[in-house]
Formats: sequence, structure tokens, C-alpha cells
Amino acid sequence: MPPKTVATINSTGRQAASFVRAASAVGWHVRAQIRNREGEVAEELASLPNVELFEGDLAGPGRSQLLRGLFAGAKIAFINTTHWGDEVAIGKACADAAKRAGVAHYMYSSMPDHSTFGSDWKALPMWATKFAIENYVRQIDIPATFVYTGIYNNNFTSLPYPLFQMEPQDDGSFEWHAPFHPDDPLPWLDAEHDVGPALLQISKMGPQHWKGQRVTLAFEKLTPLQCCARFARGVGRPVKYVRGPIKIAVSVPSGYREQLEILQEVLGDKRAPYFGPELEYPREGRTIWEGYRGIEEYAREAFPIEEYANGLRWMEEEGAATPSEAGDDDMESDNRGSRPMTPSGMPMPMPTHITGGYTPRSHPEGRDVNFFVGST
Ligand code: NAD
Repeated sequence: MPPKTVATINSTGRQAASFVRAASAVGWHVRAQIRNREGEVAEELASLPNVELFEGDLAGPGRSQLLRGLFAGAKIAFINTTHWGDEVAIGKACADAAKRAGVAHYMYSSMPDHSTFGSDWKALPMWATKFAIENYVRQIDIPATFVYTGIYNNNFTSLPYPLFQMEPQDDGSFEWHAPFHPDDPLPWLDAEHDVGPALLQISKMGPQHWKGQRVTLAFEKLTPLQCCARFARGVGRPVKYVRGPIKIAVSVPSGYREQLEILQEVLGDKRAPYFGPELEYPREGRTIWEGYRGIEEYAREAFPIEEYANGLRWMEEEGAATPSEAGDDDMESDNRGSRPMTPSGMPMPMPTHITGGYTPRSHPEGRDVNFFVGST
């Protein structure tokens, strides 16, 4: 049997890169679109076996030709569109090109449009575009599965980005300020660790299994208080949750500011469920992929390494309290072993082929700041 051929776009993004790594590792042939070869994720993808890179800008004039080449011979596609360029136009063009090329299973990373739920909830603008694309994919009748991804564990950073800053305190502890009610459940996902294996499994089950269903990729359902308790256990420092308005301490593009304002109103003040009233989690995701990385394991094993790679050094200083003082939730611990340390007491970097790569973030004033880490 020839190996399966899969196509991905925005392949340096956390979702698609995770799938490219997993598909490459099991010997599938991957046709991966990237915008350019700059950056360590692009370099990593270029070095993976069975991965063919298609370089070009989806927002540019060469889009049709780029997509024709990308989908030629592909039977499976994973499409995660982003806000860069006209997202809906790009999403429609991908679906049309995949249909023309005979793609047999089209996996699209969607998000809900809260204005469709019959309450007085507004649409989150950066999610509604995805929902519009989902509807288009349904209309053109290509065999499809729609994945709904939870909040990435690695949205958390101690850098001053809005919504998911784990704000370092003078005593070595952290605070997370967000508009969510402390007791409202939220979906959590380790995108780099778990999107790839889950999509591999969804692909293997095939489009007939899913029949156009929505599948939630969220492996933990935790309230902000529970999330902070687990994060505290993992990182070994207290983490306090503070409900409040989203602080915007760095300049953000206007589209993202609007997204944050509506998120605060709809998910914060009005307490709408994150995925809307119908979609359930985390049972479905866990049925598909059991080896997920929870927030506690992320905080223990990946967060300090990502932070260190971003030039932060809080992990070399004393923490404020022992993990046992750091707060607890009454849920079963997700403790899967203690954090590996270097001889100098630094957390041991994990090989990226095991953990999935991390996404380095430059200084907030820098050119490469990924403001959309929090565009949930
Ligand atoms: P990412 O945020 O990890 O990476 C960003 C991608 O955008 C990279 O592929 C990068 O090369 C590309 N990019 C950067 N600048 C660009 C430019 N000027 N033009 C075109 N492309 C550019 O990507 P991801 O997380 O895999 O996907 C992002 C999407 O996922 C967003 O639409 C976001 O709303 C959605 N999402 C995020 C979360 C979350 O918790 N962060 C949750 C669900 C959905």
C-alpha cells in the first residue's frame, strides 16, 4: 500500500505543526504549506522525513496555483485558517481546491459563532469567520470532520500579553487575571502535544465515521480555579486566579482588541459556554487520544522551558511556597512524574520530537510577537 498523503496549510502554526510531526513520524507523506522558511518551526519541518514543503502566501496572488500543487494526490487534509489575510476567502479557496483534487477526508479546525445560539450573545469575530468557513465546507459537500480546539495550555506566558498572562509576583508566585467566572468550566488543550495524535486517529477512523460531525479537541474541562490549582502543582509555586477585565498592556491590532472585548462580554460577563450550549468535552477527545498532556504536566515540563527560551529567568529564583501550599483542587492529580532537572537545578529541556516544539515568543515590542496566542 502506498503511504497516505496528507495536506496541511499554515504548517508552522501550533495545530498544523503538531499534525505534520505525527503524520511524518508514522510514515505518511505530508504536503505542508508554509509562508516562508524563516524560523525554527519551518526549519524543523524541513528536516522531517516524508515532509514536502510548499512555500507561498495564501493571501497572495499565487494562491490558486499554490493550492493546486498542495492538494494534488492528497487524500486527507487538515486545514486551520488564521486571521492573516481574508480568512473566509482563504478558507473557501482551500475547500474548493481540495474538492477539485479529490480529497477524501477534509478536517477543518472550526470555532463556534455565539450569535447563532439564540441568546443575546454576540459573535466573537475571530471565531465567526471559522464558522462561516465550516458552513461553506458543508455546502460544497466534501467529506469532512470539524474539530473544535480548546484553549492552548501554552497560551500561558509570563510576558505581558492580554488574557493569558501568568503574571509573576514579587514573592515568586503567579497571578492569572481573566474575565471568566472562577467556577465556569473551560476546555483545555495542549495544541503542540495533542493535536497531531488526535488528528491521526480521526483520519484513521475516516470520514464515514464522523459524517460531518463536530469533534471537540479539549482534553481537560477545568474552571479557572481548578486550572490554577493544577498549574500551581506543576510549576511548584502558588498561582492565584483573579477575575477582572482583560488588561491590554501592549499594543494589539484593532481586530484582536475587538475580539477580546466581545470575549469579555460574552464568555465573561454573560457566562456563555465556551463552545456554546451543545458541544461536550473532554470525554470525546480522551476517547480519541488518551496520551494527552494536561495543564499540570505542561506547567511542570514545558512552561519553564518555553519561558527560559523566551529569555525569562524566574525559574532560577526561589519560589514562594512549596507545591503543597500552592493550592489544590479536589480532582484527581494528573501528576505523571516529577520535572526533570539539570545539575544546576534548571528544568531539563525535552527533545522536541517527544514534546513537540515550543513556540518561542520574542519581546512584546518585537516584530515576531504572536499576539494571537490568546485569540481563543
Ligand atoms: P500559531 O498561532 O501557533 O501560529 C501562527 C501562524 O500564523 C504561523 O503559521 C505563522 O507562520 C503564521 N503567520 C504569522 N504571521 C503571518 C502573516 N503575516 N501572514 C500569514 N501568516 C502568518 O497558529 P495556530 O495556533 O496553529 O493557529 C492559529 C489559529 O488558531 C487562530 O485562528 C486562532 O484563533 C486559532 N485558535 C487558537 C486557540 C488558542 O488557544 N490560541 C484556540 C483555538 C483556536
